[in-house]
Formats: sequence, C-alpha cells, structure tokens
Amino acid sequence: MYLVKQAKIGQSTRQLGFSATDFDADLCALASAASQAQLHLNLNQVTNVTILATNPAAIQAITNLRPHPGQSFSRDFCSTLTQILSVFRNTRITIEWCPSEVSIAGIRRCIDLARDAASAPLPPNHQEPNTIAFQKATSKQLAISVWQARWHNADRRTQAFLALPTPPSGKLPPVIHGATGASRTASATLIRLITGHAFIGSYTARFHPHKPTHCPECGVNPQTVGHVIQHCPRYAHARATYLAPVTPDLSLSSLFGTKEGGEALIKFLEITKACFRPNEQAFDPG
Ligand SMILES: [Zn+2]
Repeated sequence: MYLVKQAKIGQSTRQLGFSATDFDADLCALASAASQAQLHLNLNQVTNVTILATNPAAIQAITNLRPHPGQSFSRDFCSTLTQILSVFRNTRITIEWCPSEVSIAGIRRCIDLARDAASAPLPPNHQEPNTIAFQKATSKQLAISVWQARWHNADRRTQAFLALPTPPSGKLPPVIHGATGASRTASATLIRLITGHAFIGSYTARFHPHKPTHCPECGVNPQTVGHVIQHCPRYAHARATYLAPVTPDLSLSSLFGTKEGGEALIKFLEITKACFRPNEQAFDPG
C-alpha cells in the first residue's frame, strides 16, 4: 500500500503460491515496495521515502547480500535501491519497523488485502518462487524418502543398522543423541565403530589383508568391534564401570540402538581411547 502525505495512492499484491515461507513473503513485500518507490520517483521526485515493515528480521535481512534463505529478494531490493540512489541523489530512503497491530488502520487494510490475495485463484502464468528455504526443505525431504526406501530394502542384519532401529526420519538416531557433547575424537570413533570403518583389525582384514589384524592389547585375532566392546581384558575395568550398569548383557543392539547405550559408550571411549586414530608420527626435522 502506497501513501503520499498520508493519503493512499495505490496498492499492489503478489501471490507467492504454496511453497513460500512467511519470511519469503516479508522479504518479497520489501522488494516490491522498493520497485514501487522507483516507479513513483520516476514520475514525482520526492526527497523522502519511508518503507514500513512489521518483521524486524526481514528488515535486517533485506540488505544482506550474503547467502541466506531470502537472498534473491535481497538482491532485487538492493539493485533497485542502487538505481534509485544513483539517479535521485537528493532522495533519502528509510526502512522502519511498524508494530503489527490491527488497531492501526494501515495494518488492518494490509491484512485485508493479503487475505483477498491469498484466497484468489493463482494466475494462469503463476510460477512458484522456488526460494532457497523451499529448496532446502524439499531436497531434505527427498533425501530422507530415498534413505527410507533404502532402509526398508537393505539387509538390516548388518552392524550399522543396529544404530537405526527405525526408518530414518531426519532426526538424530538415539545413540547419537546419547553421545552429544563428547569430544570430537571420541564421537568420530563411535561412528567408526558403528559403521565398522574403524581403526580396528577386522577393518584391516577387509582392505589390507597383508597387515596385522590382531588386537594390539591382548593378541586375539582378528580384533573386532565386539571384541573391543565386549571381551578385551584391557578394557575390563572401564567396561564394568560404564557399560555393564546400562546393558548387563553388553549386546551391541542395546549399546548402538539406545540413547543410554550412546551415553555409556562415549564415556567408555573417552576413558579407554580404544580404537582412536593412531597418533601421527612425531615431526622429525632431520
Ligand atoms: Zn583385545
């Protein structure tokens, strides 16, 4: 809605379709306001233009040209403003926040306009804005759907599926929830043990059969994930302290499949440093 000296001179609405977010709508309105200001200035040169908006986050974002969910609207807005300010050098443009209260006549009128526009059918040439926010949500949902299909078709007897007892939903599995807050090294080691791609003899046996595959702590060959977590005498004390109270049977399905198992395992790994990445060789200056 456009006003000159408090008198309404025009209005415009735009339908964004079903994929746009509220934030997209706020940014789009600011970009449209800048375009309308440019049209008005081309006909009537004024020295002050004030754009009112009710969303402070949108006011902050509209001049941010760095990557963000509404970046395309920010680019439109800034390029329009650049054109205005380079042509009309005495014009001052201000963006101000306005409370979103229906007791304000202008806000009430804007809400009515928005409601009318939202209930009208989409024009025949309508194109969804395909914003970054929409693309992110769509691609995430697509990836989760594909992952769920793979989960249902996979052989779930493999060890990694112990950590995914239910189809993936886009949320963290319970074991990762339990391990939250641990050191980067211990967290990485936990993931490696779950997937089997760990610094461990059974992994070496698969990819480097000519290298030693025994447990460096007790000599059992090959050193497996089950051996480290359930049997190796080197870790007996830590196992009794952290793992046995949570899962007395020390089953991998409980340890890898529950939040409590994740909490226990991450403490066990922090203390024992079992299967951590071997230290790099000390720097030798020669
Ligand atoms: Zn061992």
